[in-house]
Amino acid sequence: MAEKIDIRGVKFDSVSLDEAVEILSAAAANGPQTALYTPNSEIVQQCIENNELYEVINSAELIVPDGVGVVKAGKILGTPFEHGKVAGIEVGEHLIERLAETGLSVYLLGGKPGIAEQAAEKLGEKYPGIRFCGCHDGYFKKSGEENDAVIDAVNQSGADVLFVCLGAPAQEKWIYENRSKLTTVKVMLGLGGSLDGYSGNVKRAPKVFIKLGLEWFYRLLKEPKRIGRMMKLPKFYFGTWRYKLKNK
Ligand code: UDP
Repeated sequence: MAEKIDIRGVKFDSVSLDEAVEILSAAAANGPQTALYTPNSEIVQQCIENNELYEVINSAELIVPDGVGVVKAGKILGTPFEHGKVAGIEVGEHLIERLAETGLSVYLLGGKPGIAEQAAEKLGEKYPGIRFCGCHDGYFKKSGEENDAVIDAVNQSGADVLFVCLGAPAQEKWIYENRSKLTTVKVMLGLGGSLDGYSGNVKRAPKVFIKLGLEWFYRLLKEPKRIGRMMKLPKFYFGTWRYKLKNK
């Protein structure tokens, strides 16, 4: 596995998009069971404010920086990410493209009712050959009988790969708590709002925003209610400078 980069206690992997997809498709075919998490600076800041979250987030075999804030922190701390930001939504789509050639099966879990099905339909049109073996929305009780029923459905589908799109850090907690009960799944991906993207219900920022590192700003314009969550960003940024100066 690639070299780890420690950003304020979260242990990221310095891999490119292609390397991440390679690692995941190999694991999907031959194991071992592998989880991908894609934390942004908001999640790292949540770990700093609630230390119990570190164990959950650092439990994934593959952790990529899905945000310019984390990439910037790498530079500030003198441990830059060679490949920059690796967007989870892109890792997921490239993996689907690869899996379409293999016959391995994918289960989509998360999003509002109907979204996973729409995402499966759109991805199926784009990558003929991809085998979706089940879909379930993300609005179920994450413990007890309801949760057990979801686990049973995934196990009965025989899925090799499971997309878990419940928002962060709920999806990371779900994977952490349930992965040992998944009997056929070899790869689990925590991918936030990706199903909304694949289904065409939420558009990604125009390329110019992505290029300028302003995808977060575009999302804020589209969903102003994210402002509360995004207040973690300046906290993380200035906190990282303070951390750097203190630990010089
Ligand atoms: N979601 C879900 N179950 C829940 C809460 C949220 O499936 O109990 C879904 C929601 O429909 C959306 C995604 O999780 O598709 C969260 O998207 P967001 O872009 O906010 O992801 P984040 O930025 O938190 O990774």
